Amino acid sequence: RAKANGRNRFHFYNHEIDREEHERLALRNALHQALRNQEFELYYQPQVDVAENRITGVEALIRWHRPDHGMISPACFIPLAEECGLINEIGSWVLEQACAQLKKWQQAGIDLRVAVNLSAIQLDDPGFYDQLEDCLSRHGLQPEQLELELTESMLMKHVDHTIDLLNRLDRLGVYLSVDDFGTGYSSLSYLKRFPLDTIKIDQSFVREICIDPDDAVICRTIISMANSLNLTVTAEGVEEVDQLNQLAEFGCHQYQGYLFSRPLPADELTRRYRQHQPTASESYTI
Ligand code: C2E
Ligand code: MG
Ligand code: MG
Ligand code: MG
Repeated sequence: RAKANGRNRFHFYNHEIDREEHERLALRNALHQALRNQEFELYYQPQVDVAENRITGVEALIRWHRPDHGMISPACFIPLAEECGLINEIGSWVLEQACAQLKKWQQAGIDLRVAVNLSAIQLDDPGFYDQLEDCLSRHGLQPEQLELELTESMLMKHVDHTIDLLNRLDRLGVYLSVDDFGTGYSSLSYLKRFPLDTIKIDQSFVREICIDPDDAVICRTIISMANSLNLTVTAEGVEEVDQLNQLAEFGCHQYQGYLFSRPLPADELTRRYRQHQPTASESYTI
């Protein structure tokens, strides 16, 4: 009897694993189809100048409308795409799409910079630089209109190769930023060695900036360091006016977050941009 129970449990356990494995496989297969079936879309979140309350740029954030499953978070499928060798293809699509949209905005008299998130695997692709340069010139864009977001772990991997590549990108004129700053393991001395333009303070430090004194110190320190190194600072995940006021007091230059706007489809971003006529009384900060 004990034996039979054990066997049943074993079967049950196996069955659970089978189901998880099955779901993972299904997700992978669906991801393989997604590009061909045009299930991806880029959303754009405004990046706002703190002092002037003016939109200076947007961050492109990928969305996957998976049939019968709704929207799947990039936090879930980007790691999967990296694992199964699809990230270069998806990354190229993101770059093409962002550049095409940027051109449309430019032609409509909307002057923005677009920031695109990169994966470590794209940086390792020896064809990346040429692909990027080709993409910009085909769309008739200036490199200064594009920003690339990297993470600390990407900077710290294959440091020599990365410095060479980033120096070439910097000479081309592309803006370079460090995303999720403070969550990785970068040595601060590297901030000087890489040709960076912007540091993005991770939203985990912004969330409790008005509640947790440690988070306030971390934000203040990152901002003052960035100012000393002549880097622009962008705070991520700003949801409340009090957080924005605190960041402004610390000397933060730009912010992104639900307070100003969620990431929006391109046409909604266009509307939001046109609607937004900053005046002194509209400004969030005093
Ligand atoms: P990220 O680059 O750090 O992007 C910021 C994330 O914070 C986005 O999540 C955005 O929607 C969210 N966010 C913005 N404002 C707020 C706020 O006020 N409160 C809160 N709670 N969240 C806010 P999303 O769009 O789900 O993207 C998650 C991550 O997926 C991104 O983090 C990025 O690492 C990755 N990702 C997104 N698009 C791409 C892409 O095209 N390529 C690559 N390689 N990765 C991407
Ligand atoms: Mg980002
Ligand atoms: Mg530069
Ligand atoms: Mg981030």
